[in-house]
Amino acid sequence: MTARRVHTWVALVTLIIGLPGVANAYIHLAIDRPSGPVAIRWTAPRVRWYANTTAVPGVTAAQFQSEVAQAFTTWETVPTASIAFEFAGFTSAIPFDDDDLSVFGFQSEPEMDRVLGATTFIVDTITGNIIESDVFFNSIFAWSTSVTGDPARFDLRSVATHEIGHFLGLGHSAIGETEMRPEGGRRVLGSGAVMFPISLGRGAVADRTLQPDDIAGVSDLYPDGDFRSETGVISGRVRMNGAGVNGAHVVAFNPQSGALIGTFSARDGTFRIGGLTPGPHGIRVEPLDDADVDSFLDPPGVNVNFQVTFHPRLIVAPVGGANASFDVAVQPK
Ligand SMILES: [Zn+2]
Repeated sequence: MTARRVHTWVALVTLIIGLPGVANAYIHLAIDRPSGPVAIRWTAPRVRWYANTTAVPGVTAAQFQSEVAQAFTTWETVPTASIAFEFAGFTSAIPFDDDDLSVFGFQSEPEMDRVLGATTFIVDTITGNIIESDVFFNSIFAWSTSVTGDPARFDLRSVATHEIGHFLGLGHSAIGETEMRPEGGRRVLGSGAVMFPISLGRGAVADRTLQPDDIAGVSDLYPDGDFRSETGVISGRVRMNGAGVNGAHVVAFNPQSGALIGTFSARDGTFRIGGLTPGPHGIRVEPLDDADVDSFLDPPGVNVNFQVTFHPRLIVAPVGGANASFDVAVQPK
């Protein structure tokens, strides 16, 4: 059997989700194999990336390269993850070319008028190895590199940090709250992850900084030496009337630190949340209702018809291992 190269892509949107679908995601982007999902990831210890030379009003090519490089550094310096990047140079190659070069750059995509940026992949569908990943930033929007943010523009480094999460193989996090806007779309009330799929909006620079959910995600995919032995896993199953619930958002809350780390249940309702600080956690299970389901998961079979549920007891994440699996019972809406 030969490895097939396939394209898949994910996007960060301004206000509303309405996009060609994403890959199957749990926390990680994954390929659906008959034997189960295979997470996609880089295997090279040092990933090389290129910057396209296109400038836009307010951002020179040199500023673009510098902001993307700083966003890479943000991920590279996570102490519990082990992945490194190398700027390989400027190029006239554009994102989305199949050329084995991982290129970051501006492109004008007027028909994608809610999409700030997107990440594409070419992956080996047998192993899940990422062969190439390109990231484009939509130049129909106004961009800023201001340290404090420009209220009329989107912060380049924040969006780059989100897209590099995808570039690494992370899917969208559902840790965030939104409300419907009367004029359409959604407004983000609060987000607990850079990988939340809806932008915080113009002027916001908060997504330059990773949150616990982002850090757990990258560390689980590229664990550094002691990560697995020093953190804990909580695993269990979401059930309604005895049957497993597919696509439930499960969040572990650490009452000491306030950290929120989430995942989605698999088709049989099982879930596994890794990278937890050992100790007791509250468990909340909720349907995916802060954006269209397909911004997180492959929609078929995802169950959103149950009530938000707080598990009645705290669950302890043991040091270097997993708890005894438990059931979270949810009620129909
Ligand atoms: Zn995204």
